[in-house]
Amino acid sequence: MKLRVFCDFDGTIAVNDVGNELFTTFGDAAYWWRLVAQWKKGELDGRDLWRKQCVVSNITIGQLDEFARQQPVDPYFIEFYRFCREWKIPVYVVSDGMDAYIARILSRHGIDDLDIRANHLIIHDDGSLAVEFPYYQAGCCNCGNCKGAHVRNEKQPGETTIYIGDGHSDICGLREADITFAKGALLDYCREKGEACRTFTDFADIIRAVKALLAE
Ligand SMILES: [Mg+2]
Ligand SMILES: [Zn+2]
Repeated sequence: MKLRVFCDFDGTIAVNDVGNELFTTFGDAAYWWRLVAQWKKGELDGRDLWRKQCVVSNITIGQLDEFARQQPVDPYFIEFYRFCREWKIPVYVVSDGMDAYIARILSRHGIDDLDIRANHLIIHDDGSLAVEFPYYQAGCCNCGNCKGAHVRNEKQPGETTIYIGDGHSDICGLREADITFAKGALLDYCREKGEACRTFTDFADIIRAVKALLAE
């Protein structure tokens, strides 16, 4: 079986929801949670969520570096990543969060060559922020970066696509992928809506499942 893997970052590769932590630490936390609630109800465009929060946040490069150093990743993710490289299985990090913290955290764990598809955070010298959405046009127009669009656009004939995620922003990925591994809020969503998925706790479960798929 030929596989192609799409993987969420916050709460899936990273143990924490880093976007939430970053913007509640360096921005207006109460305001952030109000915006997130609106976005989950479909009342706020994914881009406006980030734009509005960036206006009230201030993060210097030094603060971001220090913050990223403290962020753990799933204890088996590195092993999963090496396994996929060995088997030439393409892996994409798909995130409706920000490239700036994703790249720093992965790099700190020795991973510099993953294909990261995320929104682009611009950090000015004074710590003021701006955000760009390089993948918005290809998507569903509710996500800032639609994960489903990446699955749809990258899938090659004859391949089985795998999606791995834990949250609300993974729903478009779930809809497009052949097999989804879900935990957290994404798993709750699948159960509520009767969407097919497999559960997982950490990447040790994913490694086992992918090995079984390769043997099919
Ligand atoms: Mg997540
Ligand atoms: Zn979408």
